[in-house]
Amino acid sequence: MRLIIRPNDRYPHLGLDRRPLAIACGEGWLGILHAFFTEADKVMAVGGSFTVLEVMEKKGVLHMHYAIAQIAPDARRAIDDACRLAAARSFHICEVCGRRGRLHTFGDLRKVVCSEHADGELGKGVPFEDPLNAPDPYFPDVDPFIAARPTVTEFDAAPIIEGWLIEEDSEGGRRPWLYGWFFSEPVTRDGEHGHTSPIVQMDDMVPPRWVRTDTRLYRLGMCYPPAEREIRYWAQKLSRRPVPYGERPGGSDDMEAMLAFLRSSGRLRSTKIDRLEQAYREEQGHVNEVGKVRTT
Ligand SMILES: [Zn+2]
Repeated sequence: MRLIIRPNDRYPHLGLDRRPLAIACGEGWLGILHAFFTEADKVMAVGGSFTVLEVMEKKGVLHMHYAIAQIAPDARRAIDDACRLAAARSFHICEVCGRRGRLHTFGDLRKVVCSEHADGELGKGVPFEDPLNAPDPYFPDVDPFIAARPTVTEFDAAPIIEGWLIEEDSEGGRRPWLYGWFFSEPVTRDGEHGHTSPIVQMDDMVPPRWVRTDTRLYRLGMCYPPAEREIRYWAQKLSRRPVPYGERPGGSDDMEAMLAFLRSSGRLRSTKIDRLEQAYREEQGHVNEVGKVRTT
């Protein structure tokens, strides 16, 4: 059982309240569910009632039950179509990790998994063509939602971005892109800081492990809270060397030493370092606060 936290904030027209929404499927399908709820929320914005009754994995694929009332026939049709699309997509996405997958049998059990999860906890899966799926007019390779997802082979061969950060155009003209330290990237030298081309699709798992941009797929490494990242960025930049693979940007996890280094370098204004330090302390306070809430 998984939970979608505060679903009413995200989907205000679906009659959900503040309680987490329970779903009985793996988190690899969260992206499919969010795409469905986004579409349903758009349709329900004009009014009517929508009640989620059940979201579950059944015989290996996604099943959703909901009740809708007081809406026009074409609105009902739009939601039913979105539901059928969600079920069709679930045949092609690993329920465990969200990468490209296909239906497998593990003894009596059926599950959609990628090649990595086809040989794991459940034993060795055998690829299986569900007869119900055979006449399916849905073509996954022309659905960008599926086509942008990596296979295990593509994922394993992809360059890595460490310390990544999503950057958005403040004027809203361009799609977001990422900054970070690159490894095994064809254009950027290992351990150098750089940016990607605009994002096409990003892993919906938490934390995300891949991103597809206009030019290529990347694996995503560590990410840091914004103030900590900025201190690491400056400490690394002023050290005038790339990040060695396996090392943290900024050289270590000793943030106090990094702040002291920035002050001693004399290359940043002390007011800027004060601002960075204050933001970092506040960020740490917040992280600790969140940590406390989580443990109680
Ligand atoms: Zn998988």
